[in-house]
Amino acid sequence: MPGLDYLIIAPHPDDAELGAGGTILLLKAQGASVGVLDLTSGEPTPYGSPEIRRSETAAATALLGLDWRGNLGLPNRSLAADLESRARVAGAIRELRPRVLLAPYWEDAHPDHVAASALVDAARFWAKLTKTDLPGPPHYPQRILYYFSVHLRLHPKPSFVLDVTPFLERKMAVLACYHSQFIAGRPTQPPTLLDDLRDRARYWGWAIGVPYGEPFVCREEIGLRSLRDLA
Ligand SMILES: [Zn+2]
Repeated sequence: MPGLDYLIIAPHPDDAELGAGGTILLLKAQGASVGVLDLTSGEPTPYGSPEIRRSETAAATALLGLDWRGNLGLPNRSLAADLESRARVAGAIRELRPRVLLAPYWEDAHPDHVAASALVDAARFWAKLTKTDLPGPPHYPQRILYYFSVHLRLHPKPSFVLDVTPFLERKMAVLACYHSQFIAGRPTQPPTLLDDLRDRARYWGWAIGVPYGEPFVCREEIGLRSLRDLA
């Protein structure tokens, strides 16, 4: 399989959609190849089951139009940035060969999210090693962009905000696929959880003078080839 342009690595099915759903839709509309690697099943949750989560994820994957989606089956709730998990993630990076990685932001209340962020950092480096028993040839994604699917009420300072206005409605439809996570057992009076998520996209859009946006942080510098696309 030829390398992916973008690989979003997520602790749980739904985190890629929460933090980068609009971005995925934008990238697909621009002709990029995009994959999502979920690290765990995300179960147990109060209203989910493994079967429910699988069918919700399949529905979201279809709406996103992903080129690839996989699940490493690492332990939910006790995800650890250990050597065994690092090798699994590095192996996936070598097989999928993404140009750019998207990872969860490193500061979070959920230990799985903190571990996932650290795992992606370490696995990116391991993926380029020679003389290992990892599968496939060495590969080093040129950037990691950190997305926000965060259980802390953070007010982050993003490196950039992507205008996802044309894709916001579809992102909301993608999120609604995860009924067991975002709708079941949640308040039904406005603002609902989905209202909150839309409002946050509106806030980041406001920050760059467009209707809706998704923020990202990059530890390394962002290079531009043109100023044409500044929002
Ligand atoms: Zn999560």
